[in-house]
Amino acid sequence: MTREELYQSIYTHDTIYLPPHEQTTAALEVSLGCSWHKCTFCDFAKDTFQIHSLERMDHDLEILAGLRPEDTRLFFLGENAFCMGTEQLLDIIELTHRHMPKVREYAMYSRIDDISGKSEQELKRLSQEGVRALHIGVESGSDSILEARRKGITSAQTIEALLRLDRAGIDYYLTVIPGLGGRNFSRLHAIETARMLNQVHPRNIWCLKLKLWEDTLLYKEAKAGTFEEMTPAEILREERLLVENLTVEDCLFEDTTVLDQFTVQGVLMRQKGELLGAIDYLLSL
Ligand code: SF4
Repeated sequence: MTREELYQSIYTHDTIYLPPHEQTTAALEVSLGCSWHKCTFCDFAKDTFQIHSLERMDHDLEILAGLRPEDTRLFFLGENAFCMGTEQLLDIIELTHRHMPKVREYAMYSRIDDISGKSEQELKRLSQEGVRALHIGVESGSDSILEARRKGITSAQTIEALLRLDRAGIDYYLTVIPGLGGRNFSRLHAIETARMLNQVHPRNIWCLKLKLWEDTLLYKEAKAGTFEEMTPAEILREERLLVENLTVEDCLFEDTTVLDQFTVQGVLMRQKGELLGAIDYLLSL
């Protein structure tokens, strides 16, 4: 088999989705689908939720070890792989050691309640065993927007869970979705999201463009007129309000889909002025 065919043999889908900061990280598929699967805007989690067997992972790791023998970091692929129990995760880490002994760091996607469901001791243990980074879609800091979009978490739960990660020494990379409140709640969305983010310590805030997928409830709400989709310029003005209100330190802020064609990127707070300047420039075009 060619390298390409070997890669294809270990992933369920032709395309795998890694977060921006893990694009070069080797990935082991540990689960499929999302254990929550209820967010009204999400078209991402189409598969029925399942955790793969250790036998399958053993087989896939053997192939991955042949393809990436020098890798020191591994991404556990799955919409929210961190929903797995601590012992399950530790079993996978142990299995990885057998096949890829140089791997010392692990990263994966997580929901906030996957963190809340683990004790402080469990989080510390996972951190000691190499879990370095969680990539989390927090989406909004507004409880009413989170509830309307059926995210299944509150901003208080988000803050509490992320502060627990701080104590355990696990980094977190957050995704927010400008436009998720619609035109009516744009201001609330920006202000409340900044309020929430200012209480935690993300390594990265990534703004993900809201796309209304045809098979989602949010799409139907937009068609029925109960959700007012914003234009790219309105979304950028909302993003400006978000940045204006952020006080987080040492955090890379980025949006790669500004006005559907530009990237805005800068380290907060050091480059907040430049970020606002870039947004103002794009708004003036
Ligand atoms: S938690 Fe994430 S993957 Fe799961 S349904 Fe919500 S947005 Fe989709």
